Amino acid sequence: MKYSILTLFPNIIKSYISESIIKKALEREKIELEIIDIRDFTTLPHNQVDEYQFGGGRGMVLMCDPVVSAIESVKTENSIVVLTSPQGKTWNQNIAKSFAAEYDHIIIVCGHYEGFDERILKYIDIEISIGDYVLTGGELPSLIMLDSITRIIPGVINTESHEQESFENNLLDYPVYTKPHDYRGDKVPEVLLSGHHANIQKWRDEQQLISTFNKRPDLIDESKLNKVQIQLLENLRKSKGDK
Ligand code: SAH
Repeated sequence: MKYSILTLFPNIIKSYISESIIKKALEREKIELEIIDIRDFTTLPHNQVDEYQFGGGRGMVLMCDPVVSAIESVKTENSIVVLTSPQGKTWNQNIAKSFAAEYDHIIIVCGHYEGFDERILKYIDIEISIGDYVLTGGELPSLIMLDSITRIIPGVINTESHEQESFENNLLDYPVYTKPHDYRGDKVPEVLLSGHHANIQKWRDEQQLISTFNKRPDLIDESKLNKVQIQLLENLRKSKGDK
């Protein structure tokens, strides 16, 4: 997977990618990343990339020319061009998965200031938001997309880790424990110490459903549950109704 991130603040991106899993993915050539400074594409004096808006109003607006020229400098037939915007489709694990599966080259455009000249949208394939709040720039959203796509690319982290993670099968992850066995009187569930793999798996399946039922009932999709989980779901619903 190749990412091209178009930004006015390359250092924000550089800092994040120089640590941890993304750093390793780059070193192992599982991903490729180019950071494009939008300022390199302006033809105006003083590296100007923004202007006041027509009609009057607050804030500076990114101009079309440097942004579109920057996009055109990296775009190929196989690229998807993503604009970070609070007005976009909300990012989630399913979109991350489809991006990982369908594209070889993702161009992510980071806005800043008051936003973009509307005419930039003509050069964009999809607008993506990371949630219903407004940030100062698209750098964090671009890193969120990069991070969530990269960790599902085969070989970046061990496959089991993400196959059982939150949002797979529309369920949250099961609870996990590590040493010590007894923390201030709070003990690790016995089944996890039993070495009995089938029982451990059964416990985990149940716990996934219980967590999701308690924390994110909106996620549950019955068509993706096994028989045991469906029975458990009925019991959970009944006991909630009883209270
Ligand atoms: N005035 C604009 C917001 C501009 S915020 C509006 O109200 O729609 C500046 C830039 O930060 C945006 O252009 C976008 O690139 C980025 N940004 C801010 N919030 C975001 C979010 N929730 N998701 C994705 N990008 C966001």
